[in-house]
Amino acid sequence: MTFESLGLHTSILKALTDAGYEKPTPVQSQAIPAAIAGRDLMVSSQTGSGKTAAFMLPALHKFASIEAATGGKTPNQEMQAARARGDRPRFKPAQPKMLVLTPTRELALQVTTATEKYGSAIRRIKAVSILGGMPYPKQMQLLAKNPEILVATPGRLIDHMESGKIDFSQLEILVLDEADRMLDMGFIDDIEKIVDATPDSRQTMLFSATLDGVVGNMAKRITKNPLTVQIASANNRHENIIQRVHFVDDLSHKNRLLDHLLRDETLDQAVVFTATKRDADMIADRLNIAGFSAAALHGDMHQGARNRTLDGLRRGQIRVLVATDVAARGIDVPSITHVFNYDLPKFPEDYVHRIGRTGRAGRNGLAVSLVNHAEAVNVKRIERFTKQLIPVNVVEGFEPKKTASAPRSAARPGSWKPGDNRSAPSRPGQRTFSKPGAAPRKDGGGYKGAGARSDGARRTYGDR
Ligand code: AMP
Repeated sequence: MTFESLGLHTSILKALTDAGYEKPTPVQSQAIPAAIAGRDLMVSSQTGSGKTAAFMLPALHKFASIEAATGGKTPNQEMQAARARGDRPRFKPAQPKMLVLTPTRELALQVTTATEKYGSAIRRIKAVSILGGMPYPKQMQLLAKNPEILVATPGRLIDHMESGKIDFSQLEILVLDEADRMLDMGFIDDIEKIVDATPDSRQTMLFSATLDGVVGNMAKRITKNPLTVQIASANNRHENIIQRVHFVDDLSHKNRLLDHLLRDETLDQAVVFTATKRDADMIADRLNIAGFSAAALHGDMHQGARNRTLDGLRRGQIRVLVATDVAARGIDVPSITHVFNYDLPKFPEDYVHRIGRTGRAGRNGLAVSLVNHAEAVNVKRIERFTKQLIPVNVVEGFEPKKTASAPRSAARPGSWKPGDNRSAPSRPGQRTFSKPGAAPRKDGGGYKGAGARSDGARRTYGDR
């Protein structure tokens, strides 16, 4: 399968060649032809699967052949022309043709950046992000350009809709990106309100890690005769990411082991996840003192500081990002080779999102959880959810005093480097061996049922 065979406009093909994309990913091969044909889509895929291009390329393909509805004049230009004619300029709301809703600001910015990349050879296509935390005058300036493509988080978009700054009567394409996360974050009412404000004639594409339960019901409500695309499990199972658990006795053991693992010579960049913002700050400070180029990222930071940190990470100036779940969701930096769970996530789904920060664009990655013995039960919950066992690993010189309460599987020894997906990782000078007493599990993996949410309840995300 090639991008040409998907029927994309030549200007898009050029941008893809410039971006170094050789062939479509599975989600792109399935979604793009149907989307070009105008069909609604319900797609179950993870971040890292190439889903942004799966919805943006067909949209850009459509816009590439259509002249802007305003005849090329932005509301700003129209206002200037009106002034020149001596008329009183009237404010005109933005009339986007495409709206992409995302759960977080970071994801919205990534979608906008990707759109600029994919649309670089198309004239007159503007994409802007409308986000919480952005100064109001700046947003008004962006809306005054009457962008064809609006990428927004639901809350801030509602503010602008209610104050008459945006008119969706010309909307042709609506995308819900990471719809399950948006629902988890409590955006359902906002989403319904936004969808109600768009024309029935729109094309709707919904992307979500899962299409079960509440999100599946919503997807069915807002789409018409959709094509359902389920991406092969290899992607969802993160088979390109080696996972490990290291048991630790206490905080000092955990800190020493983290420092040791961060010195792994195969480590390019890493994300360390903490449970609280305070811990993110404290651990980043501690790691800086220990000589790592570390920085914290969490929801208490101003947007400017968050952007600067993400920029530093992308440029490679920051090697270790210490982050909370919300802040790090959607980060897409291909050189992140390692993810560390300094604290285990509260919910198994977050584990999947966390480890997906590595192994981007088909590369390999390593995800290490530093776990107190008392938390072994939470590892089991994650294993039940992902339907994968996470091997326990012990580093020589950092052995835990206690042994884990339940027999668990052990990591296979072998040499590993990013780019090698054949065996479990270890480093020169580090012996990898199974825990004393570790035995193969007899329950076939310790999971029962179909991977339903183990907590059973809706929840809201929020940095603690
Ligand atoms: P996404 O799932 O949209 O977040 O994309 C994950 C990463 O894959 C991004 O860094 C994209 O630039 C990259 N990517 C998307 N499609 C392709 C492709 N067809 N070939 C190579 N890289 C891709």
